[in-house]
Amino acid sequence: MKYADLHVHTFYSDSTFSPEEVVSCARDRALAAIAICDHDSVDGIEPCRVIGDRLGVEVLPGIELTAEKADAEIHILGYLMDYNLGWFHKQLKELREGRINRIYKMVEKLRSEGIDLNAEDVFKVAGQGTVGRLHLALAILKTGKVKTIKDIFGKYIGFRKPCYVANIKLTPREAIGIILRTGGVPVLAHPDCMGRDEYIPELIECGLRGIEVYHTDHSPGVVKRYRRIAEENNLLVTGGSDCHGLGKGRVLMGGVRVPYTLVERLKEESEKVKNEHR
Ligand code: AMP
Ligand code: ZN
Ligand code: FE
Ligand code: FE
Repeated sequence: MKYADLHVHTFYSDSTFSPEEVVSCARDRALAAIAICDHDSVDGIEPCRVIGDRLGVEVLPGIELTAEKADAEIHILGYLMDYNLGWFHKQLKELREGRINRIYKMVEKLRSEGIDLNAEDVFKVAGQGTVGRLHLALAILKTGKVKTIKDIFGKYIGFRKPCYVANIKLTPREAIGIILRTGGVPVLAHPDCMGRDEYIPELIECGLRGIEVYHTDHSPGVVKRYRRIAEENNLLVTGGSDCHGLGKGRVLMGGVRVPYTLVERLKEESEKVKNEHR
């Protein structure tokens, strides 16, 4: 049986792993395919593909965009997009630049909460990657002021906590629309993290095609709930580990995986999207 992990980050966003490390890890864990889903970046896809060809791992293009509603953070995955489109690169670049400003603002807020660090400390952690809150959290850990990543998000930088600042805001319709226009398949990431199942119908109305039923943070009960929701709404089922290399303490890759048949479904769906949106 062939398996795929459909949610993997590289150091082009907030994983500690290089493309070489990502793809070797996938091979070591006997994955037939992985999808590279960096935040607001497609830069990791091509390098991973080159290595994937060498190591016998199929590398699928993906992306993770952040959308927001007043009371919810909504991550939208995109699969199998045409990732070399000029307008798409321009839009992603704007989002990444917005993230730099956002770090300055969050650092300012943290300072007023007694946590002293510089934006430069965060950029150093991020290296060439799309800078984000995981980098910020790792920089805060280094100050020794807060002891765990869980506390850092729970008390300071989690959604709508005192030091949270949103990036350039995308509505769910905008995020889903961007993915559809690239010929990609829009999928709701870790829906339990959004925590608002009542928004799913609206996302479907915007063009959502799938739901990440299997995820590292989903308990068996949660998986069951989203399997049912997927079935009732005729949504594709996907799943992945959301591996960030060592960024989340341990390497998650392959801990969540789905049968390769789901990759075939995604491919069929992306053909449909490409026909409808061209
Ligand atoms: P950003 O894209 O900058 O908003 O940050 C998203 C990153 O922060 C992702 O890697 C998430 O997994 C991580 N993240 C968000 N909330 C939490 C949390 N409560 N605990 C740990 N990591 C989190
Ligand atoms: Zn991340
Ligand atoms: Fe996410
Ligand atoms: Fe992710």
